[in-house]
Amino acid sequence: RQDEREELYGVMELAVGLYREALERSEEGGAARRYLEGRGVDGAMAEAYRLGFAPDRWDYLTRHLQHRSVSLDLAEKLGLVRRRDGGGFYDTFRNRLLFTIADIHGRAIGFGGRVLDDSLPKYINSPESPIYRKSEVLFGVSLAKGAMREMGTAIVVEGYFDHLALYQAGVRNVVATCGTAMTEGHIKLLKRYAGKVYTLFDADGAGNKATLRAMDLCLDAGFPVHVVELTAGEDPDSFIRKEGSEAFSSRLARARSGLDYFFRQLVRDEGTATVEGKVKIVDELAPRLAKVGNDIERELYVREMSRVLGVDPRSLVRRIGGSGSSVA
Ligand code: ATP
Ligand code: MN
Ligand code: MN
Ligand code: MN
Repeated sequence: RQDEREELYGVMELAVGLYREALERSEEGGAARRYLEGRGVDGAMAEAYRLGFAPDRWDYLTRHLQHRSVSLDLAEKLGLVRRRDGGGFYDTFRNRLLFTIADIHGRAIGFGGRVLDDSLPKYINSPESPIYRKSEVLFGVSLAKGAMREMGTAIVVEGYFDHLALYQAGVRNVVATCGTAMTEGHIKLLKRYAGKVYTLFDADGAGNKATLRAMDLCLDAGFPVHVVELTAGEDPDSFIRKEGSEAFSSRLARARSGLDYFFRQLVRDEGTATVEGKVKIVDELAPRLAKVGNDIERELYVREMSRVLGVDPRSLVRRIGGSGSSVA
């Protein structure tokens, strides 16, 4: 089993090498090089992230591996090739820009592949494999771990390009979930390096859902979480390119605690003008306040929130239940 894992890492390295070469030097890679230029990604970034390009062919990787007598069964386990109905294999990634997904040690374990135009699906990603467990991997962690440890904080974004944009802007304590929902495994990983996490998801419906999910996970794990908000419709990459890194820093500085963000959103969505609205807000809030481990922190939230809602803090404390939530 361990042998097979080592072999799988080896196959990934071969694939990364081939696709890097195709991006940097092949004629077919020209469109991908121009695409990257258009998105403001330079050669140094392409190298650091080991970006690649899969040419528009069915057997580009397949033939390369065959020539080296590499078992295509292994490549299939990695999702790099797929089995043909009539026998044989074909490449999974065709005509796509490739992001190399690496583990904490920087070993390649998968790819995310983006089309160079508006065709769909925009991204396809490697499937899970013996060396790639999605619930435990965050994109960019090997590049970010030093900065996360130094700063004690981690910033979590959604996308590959968000990661690149922040990294290029000098923000190095960043990891990306790459479209998968955040998991306990991700939190465990982040806790190894940081004492606090900032979510920085796209300012759209999907990003908002991801934010709330991350907040709940962090509350459950007792992991402090802050939420960075962007202009509606933007993601970190588009925001930095439009508004610059200073505007970005000020957004970061204005991040709210997860509960504060959640509360404000409830107030905005439900309103505090009706009894119904307030009851709904308290229903959503109380179970989450109950998870705040620090008594003082919980008390401060209770004071502030009951004031905004116009309810007696003692009633809110009763709803929270549990031990020692006293508010004078
Ligand atoms: P871009 O800036 O290139 O348009 P993005 O990162 O802003 O990409 P989003 O739609 O915000 O794209 O998606 C966030 C992340 O989710 C992507 O970076 C990618 O990792 C993942 N993702 C998006 N679409 C898909 C898809 N169709 N299949 C698998 N993963 C996807
Ligand atoms: Mn998104
Ligand atoms: Mn996005
Ligand atoms: Mn984007």
